Amino acid sequence: MTVHSPVFEDLMKAYDSKLSHSGVDGERMARRLHELSLIAFTEVGGVKRPGFSDGEKAAKALVKKWMEQAGLSVTEDGAGNVIGRLEGKSSDAKAIASGSHVDSVPNGGNFDGPLGVLSALEVAEAWKDTGFTPEKPYEVIIFSDEEGARFKSGLSGSRGMIGDFTDEEFAKLRDFNGETFEQVLTHYGSSLARFKEAKRDIGELELFVEIHIEQGKKLEKADQPVGIVSGIAGPSWVEMTFTGQAGHAGNTPMIGRRDPLVAAAEFASRVPDFPAQVSDTAVATIGKFDVSPNGINVIPEQVVLHVDIRDIYEDTRDALVERISLEAKTVAEQRGVEVAIKQNTRIQPVPINEQLQAELAASLSKFGIKPIYLASGAAHDTMVLGRHIPAAMLFVRSKDGISHHPKEWSSLNDCVMGVHVLKDFVEGKMLAGILVAS
Ligand SMILES: [Zn+2]
Repeated sequence: MTVHSPVFEDLMKAYDSKLSHSGVDGERMARRLHELSLIAFTEVGGVKRPGFSDGEKAAKALVKKWMEQAGLSVTEDGAGNVIGRLEGKSSDAKAIASGSHVDSVPNGGNFDGPLGVLSALEVAEAWKDTGFTPEKPYEVIIFSDEEGARFKSGLSGSRGMIGDFTDEEFAKLRDFNGETFEQVLTHYGSSLARFKEAKRDIGELELFVEIHIEQGKKLEKADQPVGIVSGIAGPSWVEMTFTGQAGHAGNTPMIGRRDPLVAAAEFASRVPDFPAQVSDTAVATIGKFDVSPNGINVIPEQVVLHVDIRDIYEDTRDALVERISLEAKTVAEQRGVEVAIKQNTRIQPVPINEQLQAELAASLSKFGIKPIYLASGAAHDTMVLGRHIPAAMLFVRSKDGISHHPKEWSSLNDCVMGVHVLKDFVEGKMLAGILVAS
């Protein structure tokens, strides 16, 4: 027997219908969130839609149908990105784009991704209902395979659109069935050659703006429905290998031991003190810790741990990597063990343009929302686009901060507030100077 939560009824229960105005229709949003939740659902009320799966494809097909009904002309590129375009009064102007993804983690929720796509579409729906024609073209984009559940890589669609992929990377990718990237694309109905052709002249876009659930509790704590993303953190993964002297737990005296686990544990307990010393958005986490030989009665020989260090600014993030590495060396020396430090991953953070943040704040204020600025600890398609064109992001309050889980929830009131803010912001950008696409 399958169980599925009635997303529509639950959303509508607490909805304040006065929020449906200016063409924005909360009930339509709720119905659509519900319909998407029925595609590749799991028994516990979540969804399982890995990138390039039948589920992701079906979700895109449904949104494509809605895009067409809203009067958008719809195309799909070789990376599976769906683009719904509305021409503006001046068709040679650069377009303003908004969107997100419809793929999910293995037992994901119903808001991470779909909310951004449906919010972007709701802006076009509102214009259709009120007879508003924007000055510039407007694009609603669904990016493929954002979560990375398939290849442990992610952001495939946005990276394909930018051309941010090397042949070496393509060759390395294997999905959860052991299939290559090329095989998966072929099953999907595309090909590696067509994927590479998805690279577009990104200069055709003036701006990209994405709505996403917060996946944290800051907005809930501040009692605000929508917040402004101040930057997207880039992670640095640092591998530290503490090496000491193995020995018998019973026969080796306490004095003179060179125990790498004691050093690693002492180091780990100090790590939480450092992020606040560099910035108030930095974070550091030890999530992987391997002890060898890992026997009850053996003093360990070696401990390998991994530190995930993030911030929205590259200089403070790198300063934190240095500070934490120095601490590892200090502790190792005090404990008489060796430490080898290797930085495995180093992804550039993307700060959000301050002018755009100020404009979003002005839009929030019109709806009585106090601007709260939030760093995004997770990567998003905005991060990929934001390296090339101006990009901005709004977070919608997440209930209990839960995400990547069937319990993920945002109230319909909050979702609709997000659409109003997005619409106001985009309309403002439509009236700002026209930039002609080269
Ligand atoms: Zn997402």
